[in-house]
Order: sequence, then structure tokens, then C-alpha cells
Amino acid sequence: MKVLKFGGTSVGTVESIKSVLEIVKSSYEKGEKPLVVLSAMSGVTNLLTLMAKNAAERKSFSEDIKLLEEKHFEVVKQLIAIKYQNPVFTKLKLMLNELEEILQGVYALKELSLQSKDLIISFGERFSNYMVSKIMEQYNPEAIFVDASHYVKTDSNFGNAHLNEELTTQLINSLKHSHADKLMFVTGFIGSNDAGRVTTLGRGGSDYTAAIFGSILDATVIEIWTDVNGMLTADPRIVKKAFSLPVLSYTEAMELSYFGAKVIYPPTMIPAFLKRIPIAIRNTFEPDFPGTIIQFETDCTQYPIKGISSISDISIINLSGSGMIGKSGFSGRLFTLLAREQINVVLITQSSSEHSITFAVNPSDAERALKLISSEFELELDANKLVMPEVEQHLSVLAIVGENMKRTPGMSGRLFAALGRNGINVRAIAQGSSEFNISVIISKEDLAKALNTVHDAFFAELKKTLYVFNLGTGNIGSTLFKQLAEQHDFLLDKNDIEIKVAGVANSRKMLFDAEGIDLNTWSENLEDNGQVADLSSFVEKMKSMNLPNCVFIDNTASKLPATYYEDIFKANISIVTCNKIANSGEYANYKLLRDTARKHGVDFFYETNVGAGLPIVRVLKDLMLSGDRILKIEAILSGTISYIFNNFVADASFYDVVKKAQALGYTEPDPRDDLGGVDFMRKMLILARDAGHKIEPSDVDLGAILPESCLKADSVDEFYTELLKADQYFNDLKERAAAENRVIRYIGKLEDGKVAISMQMVDERHPFYALSGSDNIISFTTERYKERPLVVKGPGAGAEVTAGGVFADLVNVGAK
Ligand code: ADP
Ligand code: ASP
Ligand code: MG
Repeated sequence: MKVLKFGGTSVGTVESIKSVLEIVKSSYEKGEKPLVVLSAMSGVTNLLTLMAKNAAERKSFSEDIKLLEEKHFEVVKQLIAIKYQNPVFTKLKLMLNELEEILQGVYALKELSLQSKDLIISFGERFSNYMVSKIMEQYNPEAIFVDASHYVKTDSNFGNAHLNEELTTQLINSLKHSHADKLMFVTGFIGSNDAGRVTTLGRGGSDYTAAIFGSILDATVIEIWTDVNGMLTADPRIVKKAFSLPVLSYTEAMELSYFGAKVIYPPTMIPAFLKRIPIAIRNTFEPDFPGTIIQFETDCTQYPIKGISSISDISIINLSGSGMIGKSGFSGRLFTLLAREQINVVLITQSSSEHSITFAVNPSDAERALKLISSEFELELDANKLVMPEVEQHLSVLAIVGENMKRTPGMSGRLFAALGRNGINVRAIAQGSSEFNISVIISKEDLAKALNTVHDAFFAELKKTLYVFNLGTGNIGSTLFKQLAEQHDFLLDKNDIEIKVAGVANSRKMLFDAEGIDLNTWSENLEDNGQVADLSSFVEKMKSMNLPNCVFIDNTASKLPATYYEDIFKANISIVTCNKIANSGEYANYKLLRDTARKHGVDFFYETNVGAGLPIVRVLKDLMLSGDRILKIEAILSGTISYIFNNFVADASFYDVVKKAQALGYTEPDPRDDLGGVDFMRKMLILARDAGHKIEPSDVDLGAILPESCLKADSVDEFYTELLKADQYFNDLKERAAAENRVIRYIGKLEDGKVAISMQMVDERHPFYALSGSDNIISFTTERYKERPLVVKGPGAGAEVTAGGVFADLVNVGAK
């Protein structure tokens, strides 16, 4: 025979009950002799709990009674033929009346005992099982309703009763004996004590009822039908990438469920384990999916852990003091005390110095635990041998679980690296000696981020999600979004990286969406739905969203964003930027940013600071990392100046060339911003610093292209007037160069720790002689590339290549 248990969501609606009927019918027809255990319809146990509480507080419950009636009657109307409906309505109505009377008693007494509460919530399972058995009776006359409180015998621990195995075994066996061919619908969750008072087996206890019947009746399998595809690697409500596990051992399932995987109630595993009856977790809404099998042996999967689970609300109590050292009975006394008072200790850690013990309990037990400790250890506390303990709240436990863990070194390293990298502080750690489980206590607000991060770290074959917050929607920002939208599927398929833009802002508006802003409609969306932009709120919101693998992109050229970088790194968020400001200000700030990023384990990538998308910063970094020594760097890093000198040949006038460059959009509105060389200076400064030199902007020897008069002009118009006057000066330069078969170039040089940028005339032997258009070029002369320098050359400006460079930086975040 088989036990089929259906949870609350499986009997929650007319549609789902139809699926249940199909599954039961099919099992019956296959001769599997099913015994069915049902929970209350979803939401009913919670509602009954609330009604009981309300009654005791003298609040009305009649509306809720009506609600219960409607919920069940609706199913009857839909699924039972009219001619059979009346007796079912009558019986349900009788039960509802009985419930109402009990609630009235509570109301009158203003008192709700655990015993009355159990009786009240037991109605949920009785309603649903009676009702569904009657629906089934139409198709199968063998269907009968069984109230399990007559067969499952327990102690009097109301709310969480313990099984009386012997008696229960006898009763269930005789039930089976007298109803051998019946199709039983058995209430989950409920039992009764010796006096016949109704008890409950703890929330989620219908699973346990199924295991009790299954083990006593020697079922071939206990099937737990629910609303997900089995036991998943993590809670699917928090970790979207969680996936279904085909096989788990009883131990693994026990550990996962004990630490919060609600899909199965932990005690369920015990009776099944003792008789080695497999438990299958199946999806009522996808009955063909095989789900998860829980059995004696685990399987060898490719992953080092099976899953990650969590308890979202936990309190910890820390006990410390000299009085504990070497006192062998101390922890015994502590935990016996807690056990005696029915306080469940979720987790314990003790430092090897024996100087302190930390343990975790449910928040509702914390104050009571503290009081018990104060009175039990009064003497030690008075003598200052123990420090008065305090309760720490708002914490969560996260546990990684799997039997393969003990065969795989480095598991805790991986766990802590993932948490550390995302700035999640670990308050306490416990590893069971079985090595099936490593648990950490973290702050509750970090839980969702931690679960996702740890999931990514252990199931690395799965895609990684980067959450991007992008500042600046000008040319580069909008081109980047276009590229991200185009590459989305490719990245996911080929690189297992998914990029979600969780925030975007320009100088006017900002918009957030943790699920990812649609990159095809971001612009209208930002315009229509964005809130008024404000950089400091943008940064605060980004931090408070607390997403894993988070990257801030600064696609602006403004000064303000750079003042937030340090703060952003401190929130364990990586930065990718094409903005040069932060790297080219004071050296102290340059260094501070790197130190802060390193300390927080995050990345700071700025390839596009120099030469747009050309690999320059990266090449320099690799040379340095591989132990090469930089002897000299020569470069032309201004596309605009490059363009101007490349076209300042034959009979062209310098004035005309500059005018044309401006008309083509190659220059800033004031061409002196390019020709003044400040931008070039910044790039050289960054390279020099990356090459290990501690230098300030004022240390750079910046040679001028323009004569003094042009630089001094008050407006752009005046500048052009002066430039026209300077034609002779430029023509002389050009002719001198031509006479010597040379060309004019504006070249930056780093040598002996000094940076100089100047106009030079180079002949055809120089690698920069043949530069064309607006290309950039850089040559690295190093210990290894001494004879022939390493040269990188190509387009060093433009939205497409710059956005491409930002994109490349982005996908490298966290790649080490
Ligand atoms: P039922 O009503 O069928 O007893 P429960 O609500 O008790 O169902 O348990 C199923 C729910 O458990 C799922 O809907 C899912 O949201 C949640 N859950 C939490 N952790 C896990 C996990 N690791 N695997 C599967 N489900 C989980
Ligand atoms: N109906 C009970 C509860 O909600 C038992 C169960 O569903 O397993 O806790
Ligand atoms: Mg359940």
C-alpha cells in the first residue's frame, strides 16, 4: 500500500481538489491501495488560530465562521452532484455549530487553554477530509472519512504532542483490519491523549501523520504531495534559482527541514527512517514530475552540498565567564534546564577556551530562557563568575547541508568567502560533528542576500546574476543598455551570467526594480515612472536593497559621484566606471579607494578611463602582476588631438582643422578642453599610478600645444580669433617637420617615475609616425618587452567602444 498526503494548497481550491482526485483515482486503479491523508484547506488553520485568539479577547468570530462555511460549501457545490449535496451540507453545518459553541465557551471564559486551542484548530482537517471523502464517494463507494484523533494517540503536550507508539500501532492496525478494502481519507495533524482530548502534532504535522500511518502499515512509499517540484536547493520564495533535488538521504532531509525548509515537517523522517520506507515529495500541480525521493542513502551528485536552508527569526543568548572554564557539568546543567522547560535549542557553539557558550532559540522562548538562567545560575552570577547574559534579536540562521560535504574540503571557506565578499557579518558558527551541516547566524536583514549569494557560490555551474545600478544615461549609458539588451541571451547561454539593471538614474530622474528594469523600455519607464533624482538617495536605496553581486556603474563625467565611491565600497558593492575624476584627483584618494575596495573584497574596474575600450589598464595590470617591470610608457591618448595633427598636413591650416574637428563633434564645446591636454594628463596620471608611482596632478609636466594668447582668450569666439592669428606659428612648425620628414605628435611619456606630455616631431622609425584618424596608441617598454615594445593601438573614443569597455569590465566583476 501507499500513503498519499496532500497539503493545504493541494486542497485549497476547486481546481486543486480536482487534481487530488485524479491522483488518488489513478493510484487506486493501479492497485496501489492508497491511504489518503489531507491537511486543512490552505489558510484554514491560520484562520482558526486567529478565531481562537479573538474569542479569548472577546472579539467577534461570527464573520469568520461564515467565511469558513462559504469556503467549504463552495467546493461542495462545485464538486458534488446536487442530489448528494444536502447531507454533506448538514454534516458540515453540524461541525461548524460545534466549533461555534466551543468558541463561545472561550469567549465566555476569556481564556484560551492550549487544550481548547488544539480542539478548535482540529476542525480544519476534519472539514477538509470529510468533504473530500464525500466528493470521492461519488466515483468510488469505498471512500470513507477517518478522524485520526481516534487512532493517533499522544501525550498531553498540546500544540506539539508526542506519539504513544504502542497504542497508536494497535489502533491503526485494527482500523486497517476492519476497513481492509476502504479508501480512507484520514485527517492529518491531529491526535488525542489518554483522556480522549484532541491534541495536535505541531504546525505542518500532517506530514508526520502520513509517516505514522505509512510506517505502521508498512507502506511501500509515503508520498507528500505539495505545491512545488519536491525539495529544492533553497526556499524558492527567496532564491529564484533554486532547483529540485532528485534524491536526499533521511539525514539530509532532516537537516534541511529542521533548518527551515518547510516543505516537509522534520519529525516525518523518523518513522520512515526506522522502517526504511522512502518518502517522495511530489507536486500536485505537476503530477508527472518525479519530485524528490528521500531514502536511506544519499546519491553522489556533482554538487558538494545538497541545499541551503534558513530560519528567518532567531534569538541568541551568550553565556560567558570564568566560572565555566573546566567545569565539566556546566553545559549539561544549562541544557538540561532548557530541555526540562521545553525550550528548543536550535543551535549551540562553544569556544574552545570554554570561556563562552552561545546558543540560539526561537524568539518567543528567549526571555523565558534568560529568566531560567538567571535563577539557575544565581550564585555564579552573584559571584561574578558568569556575566549576566543578554538576548540578541533580529537574527537568522543559514545552514548548508549535504552528506558529501564531509568528503569535500574547503566547504566552509567557500561559504565564508561568499558571505564576506557581500559584506555579510557572521555572528556565530556551528558545524555539526557529523559534518552534514554548517550553520551560521547572521542579521535578519541580510538573509535574502546571503541565501542568494551562497546559492551562487555552491551551485556555480548555474548562472550568476549581477545586479547593476547605473548612473548616467547619456551616450555611453544608453549604448550600454542597448548592448546589454542585445547580449542578454548570449551571456546567459554561453557565460551563465545574467545582468539585471536594478537601478538607473540621470540628473533628473531615478528608477529602481530588483527584478530588473526592462532594457527595451527603460527610457520611457524612467521618464514616466521615475522619481526625482538625487544622488545620495540613489546610493542609499542601492545599499538598502541589499542585493547580492551588486555593481555600481558611473557613466557620467561629473565630480559628484566620485565622492560616494568609498562609501559604496564599504557597502561591499563593486564599481565600474568610465569617469576619470576619482582616479586622477589627489593620490591619497586614489589609494584610499583601492584599499577600501580590497578590504571589502569588491572590484574597482575602470578600463575605459584610458583609451576607451582598448585594453590598456588591463594590460598594464597583467604586466605588473606577472612581475614584469615597466621601463617606459609612451602614448597618444587624445583622439581629438590625434585627429587634428593627423589632418594638419600639406596645405591645411591649423585653424581650419580645429574648426572642422569641432564641426564633426570630435571636440568639447570649447576645443581648449582637448587642446589644453588636461584630459590626456589625467589618463597618463592614472597609468603612472597604476604602474606604481605615487604622483600628483601637479607633478605632470604638461607641455602646451596652443600659444599663450589662445589659452587666455575669454570666449570660444575670441579663442578662434587668436587661433587664426597663430596660423603662422603652426605653419612654421609644420614646415620644419616636413623638411625633416617628420610629423607632429602630442605624446605622453612616463619614464623614471616622471610624466611629461609634449609636442614632438617624430620620423618614420617611430611607432607613432603612421597613426591615422583619431586612433590612440600606447607602447609599453618593459623588462620583457625591451627590444620591441608592446603596442596597443585602435579607436580610443566613441560611445560604442566605450560602452563596450564598460560592459567588459562589468562581466569581469567577481570573476576571480
Ligand atoms: P503543504 O501545504 O503542501 O504542506 P507547505 O506550505 O507546508 O506545503 O510547504 C511547501 C512550501 O515550502 C513551498 O511552497 C515552498 O514555498 C516552501 N519551501 C521552503 N523551503 C523549501 C525548499 N527547500 N524546497 C521546497 N520548498 C520549500
Ligand atoms: N493544517 C496544519 C497546519 O497548517 C497541518 C499541516 O498542514 O500539515 O499546520
Ligand atoms: Mg506542510
